[in-house]
Amino acid sequence: MNADLERVIALQHLDSAAHDAQRRLAAEPERTRSLDARVETAKQRVVDAKQRLSDNQHRRREIEKEVAVHQGRLSKFREQAMAVKTNEEYHAVQKEISYAQTEIKALEDRVLEQMLEADELTAAVKRTEKELADEQKAAEAERKAMAAEFAELRASLERIAGERAALVAALDPQVLSIFELVSKRRHGVGVAEARDGICTICHVRLRPQVFNTIRRNDAIIQCDSCQRILYFVPDPIIQPAQ
Ligand SMILES: [Zn+2]
Repeated sequence: MNADLERVIALQHLDSAAHDAQRRLAAEPERTRSLDARVETAKQRVVDAKQRLSDNQHRRREIEKEVAVHQGRLSKFREQAMAVKTNEEYHAVQKEISYAQTEIKALEDRVLEQMLEADELTAAVKRTEKELADEQKAAEAERKAMAAEFAELRASLERIAGERAALVAALDPQVLSIFELVSKRRHGVGVAEARDGICTICHVRLRPQVFNTIRRNDAIIQCDSCQRILYFVPDPIIQPAQ
């Protein structure tokens, strides 16, 4: 194979690998943000669960205050009951006592409801705290894996840059400028395989004579349509079975 053709193919491999590494590196801030967002969401769930528990405790204290008010009235009525003079007065006080008792009973039922709800809400706080701890642990592990992955990508970019510089130094400057120009215009791809008489990237059919020349891989030939430098990959030689 023509040495420069071989070099531009190698150059293309390096450029494609560098492009891929850069694309993955560019995703770093977004991946970090999405990790942070997951932890934030879990934190917010804990805050919400604690708020619901605190609301419940507040409601319960309010009801207990009402119970105390009714109990105060109840003992006042009981004192009055001791001091009544007439049957009429006695019945009136009894009615108040019975009313206060009914109220207290209803309020105590509501306290009980709040206590049962508090059990569920306390369990929910514990559950969200556990979920937050798990999320933080997972995020930490992922952050470490990401740091390793990105360090590897940065190292590979440096390696690629070194190899590229060596290739460029060895390459015919005219071939290099053709490659760079086409690559720039064609989304970073300056070479194309020719197969079955067509350019495999732009799919244009090559003239048979041109394709035959390309098959020899001994010259720099550009696609008429996309201008990429064309090369040919021969079929693997099948060894006859012994
Ligand atoms: Zn083409």
